Amino acid sequence: MNLESIKAVKQLLSQPQKIVIVPHKNPDGDAIGSTLALWHYLTDRGQEAVVIAPNDYPKFLKWMPGNENILNFERENGQAKEKIAEATVVFTLDFNHLGRIGQMQSVLEDLAVPFVMIDHHQAPSDYAEIMYSDVSMSSTCEMVYNFIEFLGDTDKISLEIANCLYTGIMTDTGSFKFRSTTGRTHRIVADLIDKGAENTQIHHRVYDTNTPGRLHLLGCALKNMVILDQYRTAYITLSQEELDAHKYQKGDTEGFVNYGLTLEGIIFAVIFIENKEEGIVKISFRSIGDFSVNEFARAHFEGGGHNNAAGGKSDRSLKETALFFESLLVNYKEQLTA
Ligand code: 5GP
Ligand code: MN
Repeated sequence: MNLESIKAVKQLLSQPQKIVIVPHKNPDGDAIGSTLALWHYLTDRGQEAVVIAPNDYPKFLKWMPGNENILNFERENGQAKEKIAEATVVFTLDFNHLGRIGQMQSVLEDLAVPFVMIDHHQAPSDYAEIMYSDVSMSSTCEMVYNFIEFLGDTDKISLEIANCLYTGIMTDTGSFKFRSTTGRTHRIVADLIDKGAENTQIHHRVYDTNTPGRLHLLGCALKNMVILDQYRTAYITLSQEELDAHKYQKGDTEGFVNYGLTLEGIIFAVIFIENKEEGIVKISFRSIGDFSVNEFARAHFEGGGHNNAAGGKSDRSLKETALFFESLLVNYKEQLTA
């Protein structure tokens, strides 16, 4: 964050504001962790703030302190719209274009108040007056830590803030193993633990929440995996029927895509998940090394994200999507086998 932006934020926060904080649709650990951490920080400073999530999110994120104060734009639409209409500042966290917030997009686009973006995805659009955008960051939670530091307030990081930030850094780094994990990431995490973050409990609450249905769905996904050794690629499909048969609940497929990368020699892993209600196939892409799944998702599946983790969607059927995907690989053979 440059000096000018820090000054502008200090200026904004020197006055009482009505602040709306927004994570992306289908929020993950980093989105919920960062928005709640910022919410705690701002309300501790005496500001009036509210987190409004575009839609619901998995149960394994709902233990975070402050969770009960999050408004769900789909479920609490009237109340959420009222808060947005009253807002004097909007913080958008863990996304960088308004197309990532579903139905909230049109409501926020019409709003004539300063926007502050804190985000680590590629290719930010320019809706925010104040931008803290850095693709080298492991997570938005690491950036919220930096943000608090820029304002000279690391001593005000409470146990609640520490727990929220730890959660987002942990989930977005794959428990501190992805390439974006730096010495600085670990130093921040160390400081959060010193400030009370309950690291062992957080791992347990996020990762040890399987239901029998979810484990069986994982079994189904692994059985469905197609391995294309010649492209060092593995992909999984899950049909709506398979999801229903395993009593699918939001969040159940989180992390499944990563299993492809645990195969020796595989550097590109994908999961295609049919969503009959939305009439789309939701896709997650992961890679190891230099192959940019961000570019791949952007070019072919209306998506984006980071170099090694991205998402997208397809309007074709599940089968056709997988076939189309396979047909694309020949164009990437060199990159995938380099
Ligand atoms: P996931 O596969 O876990 O849903 O998402 C991986 C990364 O890609 C996340 O950083 C997420 O924000 C981003 N992402 C997921 N879906 C989309 C999408 O449809 N469009 C864009 N631009 N990014 C996405
Ligand atoms: Mn993130």
